[in-house]
Amino acid sequence: SIPLGFFGGIGSASKHGILVKGGNYLEGLKNSDIVVFDKTGTLTKGKFEVQEIVTVSNLSKDELLEYAAYAEKSSNHPIANSILKAYPHEIDFKKIGYHHEVAGHGIKAEIDGKEVLAGNAKLMKANNIEYKIQSNNKTVVHIAIDGEYKGYISIFDKLKDDAKEAVTRLRQAGVKSIGMLTGDIDQTAQEIKNELGMDFVRSELLPDQKVYELEKIMDEYKGKGKVLFVGDGINDAPVLARADIGVAMGGLGSDAAIEAADVVIMTDEPSKISEAMKIAKLTNKIVW
Ligand code: ADP
Ligand code: MG
Repeated sequence: SIPLGFFGGIGSASKHGILVKGGNYLEGLKNSDIVVFDKTGTLTKGKFEVQEIVTVSNLSKDELLEYAAYAEKSSNHPIANSILKAYPHEIDFKKIGYHHEVAGHGIKAEIDGKEVLAGNAKLMKANNIEYKIQSNNKTVVHIAIDGEYKGYISIFDKLKDDAKEAVTRLRQAGVKSIGMLTGDIDQTAQEIKNELGMDFVRSELLPDQKVYELEKIMDEYKGKGKVLFVGDGINDAPVLARADIGVAMGGLGSDAAIEAADVVIMTDEPSKISEAMKIAKLTNKIVW
């Protein structure tokens, strides 16, 4: 039978905006020794802002932004939303032909009869696009049209207000190792690791590589501790499902995340994870 205290713990967690899907997850929360975060939308706000538009062609900055906005129109990735926010005009859907989103890469779409690529360096490489621009110290969306490199849009995202507190509190709660998995470039990942005081990062990962990296971490700690993963469900739902304990940021409204997770943080605050652990530990005291 399930000890009554478990229900008390679940109820108490829900008052704090933390949804626990079952009593055994309270147990898992209590025993989490390694906490791994996704970056975009989890530690950062997931609201990128366009910083700079660089064109290396006959296209103006406005034209480059226009192609990017049309390409990103059908994507719900945070990067797509930011580019569309920066584009002040209506989208004429008649101009959009096919549209293909490549996870962890970007978009391939037909705009005005031309093939438009909008995404990261991996997308350019996969399509044999040569780009001479040095932009490896920022997060950028490269744009190529009909096989020719046209320039990039640099974007930046801000850390959530409680990102640092989230890491500090986990450390205080005795978590042994805290890290991050991301599809973003290494420089951005390293900066966040240093700023937040995390132990490790793995960057430039495709969605299936995130699962593989998590499995490696789980192997490393086998018999020594449970691995908790926190994500927002965009390109990381399989990782949420694979972790010993998967925690989803539920407020952004990703059904995939809520489905795959064991615990849902309704307020999207990463600092709630240490709170969930605290409640789990208290619950245990009440039961036994
Ligand atoms: P994270 O791990 O930070 O949550 P993702 O796995 O969602 O990031 O995406 C990884 C990278 O793939 C992004 O940093 C970006 O370079 C590229 N990318 C993904 N989707 C898009 C898109 N719709 N438009 C442009 N680039 C994209
Ligand atoms: Mg993500």
